[in-house]
Amino acid sequence: TIEFVRATQLQGDEEPSAPPAPTQAQQKESIQAVRRSLPVFPFREELLAAIANHQVLIIEGETGSGKTTQIPQYLFEEGYTRKGMKIACTQPRRVAAMSVAARVAREMGVKLGNEVGYSIRFEDCTSERTVLRYMTDGMLLREFLSEPDLASYSVVMVDEAHERTLHTDILFGLIKDVARFRPELKVLVASATLDTARFSTFFDDAPIFRIPGRRFPVDIFYTKAPEADYLEACVVSVLQIHVTQPPGDILVFLTGQEEIEAACEMLQDRCRRLGSKIRELLVLPIYANLPSDMQARIFQPTPPGARKVVVATNIAETSLTIEGIIYVLDPGFCKQKSYNPRTGMESLTVTPCSKASANQRAGRAGRVAAGKCFRLYTAWAYQHELEETTVPEIQRTSLGNVVLLLKSLGIHDLMHFDFLDPPPYETLLLALEQLYALGALNHLGELTTSGRKMAELPVDPMLSKMILASEKYSCSEEILTVAAMLSVNNSIFYRPKDKVVHADNARVNFFLPGGDHLVLLNVYTQWAESGYSSQWCYENFVQFRSMRRARDVREQLEGLLERVEVGLSSCQGDYIRVRKAITAGYFYHTARLTRSGYRTVKQQQTVFIHPNSSLFEEQPRWLLYHELVLTTKEFMRQVLEIESSWLLEVAPHYYKAKELEDPHAKKMPKKIGKTREELG
Ligand code: ADP
Ligand code: MG
Repeated sequence: TIEFVRATQLQGDEEPSAPPAPTQAQQKESIQAVRRSLPVFPFREELLAAIANHQVLIIEGETGSGKTTQIPQYLFEEGYTRKGMKIACTQPRRVAAMSVAARVAREMGVKLGNEVGYSIRFEDCTSERTVLRYMTDGMLLREFLSEPDLASYSVVMVDEAHERTLHTDILFGLIKDVARFRPELKVLVASATLDTARFSTFFDDAPIFRIPGRRFPVDIFYTKAPEADYLEACVVSVLQIHVTQPPGDILVFLTGQEEIEAACEMLQDRCRRLGSKIRELLVLPIYANLPSDMQARIFQPTPPGARKVVVATNIAETSLTIEGIIYVLDPGFCKQKSYNPRTGMESLTVTPCSKASANQRAGRAGRVAAGKCFRLYTAWAYQHELEETTVPEIQRTSLGNVVLLLKSLGIHDLMHFDFLDPPPYETLLLALEQLYALGALNHLGELTTSGRKMAELPVDPMLSKMILASEKYSCSEEILTVAAMLSVNNSIFYRPKDKVVHADNARVNFFLPGGDHLVLLNVYTQWAESGYSSQWCYENFVQFRSMRRARDVREQLEGLLERVEVGLSSCQGDYIRVRKAITAGYFYHTARLTRSGYRTVKQQQTVFIHPNSSLFEEQPRWLLYHELVLTTKEFMRQVLEIESSWLLEVAPHYYKAKELEDPHAKKMPKKIGKTREELG
């Protein structure tokens, strides 16, 4: 068992004994009754009046008060979508956009994709009729490319603004500008109760509309001592809550899919072993890549007598509200991107969450009744080790993508762009430098023809460049597949615990000399030959869902080829051409083998091949990687063997022959016998 000590209480606005929110049975009675029961409802008229009177309105409200699902409907009912005008509501997360759109469609009694739809990268569930568009912030950003003044929108609601994602931050600057010359455009900035004054100041002191929350007190507990293994501690604590605490569902915050799956498996395992000694515990995961039918399950009411435990990523912090949560279990971590502009290295690491995050999480326990939040860290750690707030993404990510987009929108002076918080100067500079190296910008920093094409493709600049280069190497068919497979990254192979050996064998069977990109290509090609069969996936330990998504992505990219003047062509098995095209996009991500292991070519950073890579044992002298992930070490994921001469061929402006010479070449052990490639 884990010992918790009660320390503080998150104050509520309601007495602990206040009547709970409507029960599920009452909810069934009428979806409209539920709508009327939400905290935002009594403010409907007042809110609509404020929107009518002000061009920009900041809306602040507790999570679950109805901002996302209700406000766009109010606007629809009020006639803001007359004459075919649309309402956009942005979400930082794909899952939230999908889930919320589905909910609103149900509330309005329409089919999803008709009046209400969602639009996320590589998946458009909207039609001519769609007037309420839930979309990721990144998708609205791309709308600017085709419609710089957002002329077809009457209202833009930037939702979950407190998340401060890169795309949301950029939207702020662009929308503020559009609002100046489109006085009839309404701009709503919706946020949880965090930092709304900042938004108001940014939008020339726009008024803040506060929706009073319905919040019950939450008792906060801390562990007495730090927990070494928080995953294990989580599992133990959930069971502890389950057997000792009165009814009420549990929400657990973990950092990502793998962790969530592991925790769910452990929980199910232990419940099975305890059998009928404990009451039924429903274990439900929620994370970005979870298929939508599984996502929907978290919203289904818990059967009487049972308890539900939802194991979630940050998504449940503010983007989704799950009814009936009384207990929150918070290990205090989240997965966070960080970026080192000096080395150009981006990494995704598990880091302690901020105090603001921890308090949002705790707040989830007090929505329907007084709740409890169990923190798997000490009160001391909360006080002394957690940052106050999360650093906005714009300050800890690479900016290549966004800079390319802004340049295509004709915004040249990025140093003076209206940022809510500016990115580090070095990051901006490096982004410009990389885009120049990729040929997207000329030496004056102006967009080139090639840069314009790169911006047309909804993928990272390097991936764009790779696709463009496939024209020169006549292998666009293969490159499209590689690009699509890279986009569904890391979820291709299925590795069930009880069949690890079979799964690993199946994976190795796809290995091809050259590296991981070709392995991905091989998987896809064989799957296509099987007629895109799910049975084939099952037999080969390949995730059918990921493959289906790759197929969708591939189709969409194929549809864009004409726009960027790339013809369809196949390399006919000459994989050198495919590898060169990949190198043309990723020459920035290269490493060479030295006597002390791999070093990145330009920055001389020590890096390692990920153990899952097909080249893990091969250890080629020169390679490129798709991404670096920092876990225990700096691992290169998706690795491709290259020849140093290709770097001079694809990026002569970036590499000099001299730096590609290998001073240790003579001392390197010679390969004995023929390489796999020569044999193949
Ligand atoms: P906010 O945006 O202010 O956080 P929302 O509009 O997302 O609030 O949520 C309002 C209510 O709608 C919540 O009580 C939530 O439980 C319910 N809700 C939202 N999405 C779904 C869904 N997919 N299924 C069932 N209920 C949902
Ligand atoms: Mg919301």
